Amino acid sequence: MRGGSIAVVGGSIAGCATALAASRAGADRVTVFERADAELRDRGVGIALQSDRYEELREAGYVAPEMPWAPLTRRVWSVRDGDAPHGRGFGQQPFPFRAYNWGSLWSELRSRVPEGVDYRSGAVVTAVEPADDGVALRLADGHQERFDLVIGADGYRSVVREAMFPGISPEYAGYIGWRGASEDVEGLPSDGLDAHNIVFPGGHCMIYRIPDGTGGHRLNWVLYTTPPQTDGLHPDLRTPTSLPPGRLNSELTDWLRALVADHFPPFWADKVLGTPAGTTFIQPIYDLVVPHYTSGRMALVGDAASVARPHVGAGSVKALQDATALEAAWIAGDSWKDVLERYDAGRGAVGSAMVALARRMGSTQVENTPDWSAMHQPEFDAWWQDQNSGSDRSSGFGGHSLKVR
Ligand SMILES: Cc1cc2nc3c(=O)[nH]c(=O)nc-3n(C[C@H](O)[C@H](O)[C@H](O)COP(=O)(O)OP(=O)(O)OC[C@H]3O[C@@H](n4cnc5c(N)ncnc54)[C@H](O)[C@@H]3O)c2cc1C
Repeated sequence: MRGGSIAVVGGSIAGCATALAASRAGADRVTVFERADAELRDRGVGIALQSDRYEELREAGYVAPEMPWAPLTRRVWSVRDGDAPHGRGFGQQPFPFRAYNWGSLWSELRSRVPEGVDYRSGAVVTAVEPADDGVALRLADGHQERFDLVIGADGYRSVVREAMFPGISPEYAGYIGWRGASEDVEGLPSDGLDAHNIVFPGGHCMIYRIPDGTGGHRLNWVLYTTPPQTDGLHPDLRTPTSLPPGRLNSELTDWLRALVADHFPPFWADKVLGTPAGTTFIQPIYDLVVPHYTSGRMALVGDAASVARPHVGAGSVKALQDATALEAAWIAGDSWKDVLERYDAGRGAVGSAMVALARRMGSTQVENTPDWSAMHQPEFDAWWQDQNSGSDRSSGFGGHSLKVR
């Protein structure tokens, strides 16, 4: 299948990769509509790509070694142990990941979007209307444009998905991620090559080093737990949202800070509590599955298509893989129908399997935590194995291999 006019709604990780995919697959005209009116604003926090998945994406030409990254080799799970500075490590596992700063990963992908692509910043798509042999997009400035194919790369609150499957939206998982990043990378064990999971009853906090984009490093952390059910919490947690820096409700942050002070080993408590408040934010955690990745002349990629809880460590991998799979389907297919059927068949099951694995991990790592303080390596290994052994093994921790279909 060659030629055609393609609209990509959303110009973040999935959107930039999809614009690249559509251009390579031979589309005549590719337009990206991105709501943000300047560069996408970096939240300064991290994103990790599992090393084997990175290699596949590099071979496919979507990521490259020059994108700044920091290596991670091992993950150490620790629990508070009196005043021991780093607590007691009760489990270790190989953790072959590359840690990125979200902002520099996005700008590298943006720079790979071919010049012929019309990337329109500040362009908000307000309605998506299927038409004969195509789809019309309505924009906030009132004008309307028609395309042969519209691809929703517009994240978890996707307008394209709403046109495809009205009423299907992310469901609040019942807990939050409290995220932050600081410049304090002093004294990290193993020179920062380890990722650390600090555990407590009802959740855990993952801490790892990321590049700062200018040759140095930052410390990135995300703490998952169920907030108390009180009226003082932000009322919007149940509808898709994210609470940016400066809009955090003080009752919730006071509660989170007390939790860290009570349950973290002193070294890690200092790192988290010393993070400037202006660089912390809350991300409610959601699950999203769609019946199909395509409908008519519309397709979904990245978070618009499925959202798995972050414990799987594969959100960006999945977004980039969706784009590579779309390119492959496009090259193999001989009509729009054929291309879209191939894409849906290849990616739909992967998205659902990731969400299922992420639910199992969220259940045991946050909602129903074990007595970690009683664990040692053998119990840890069995506990980890148990959450990874669901009925569908085709999608695993760190993402599903592009080579296994
Ligand atoms: C600014 C920003 C910073 C982020 N920082 C991090 C991070 O530090 N760590 C991390 O793990 N994840 C981060 N994420 C989320 C991460 O990018 C995604 O979870 C994952 O990579 C999948 O990306 P995506 O492109 O599918 O979705 P998203 O990254 O959510 O991108 C969706 C894009 O669509 C645009 N959009 C939405 N609706 C419309 C519309 N109606 N019209 C036009 N454009 C629209 C949005 O502005 C956004 O740029 C960030 C996302 C954004 C947008």
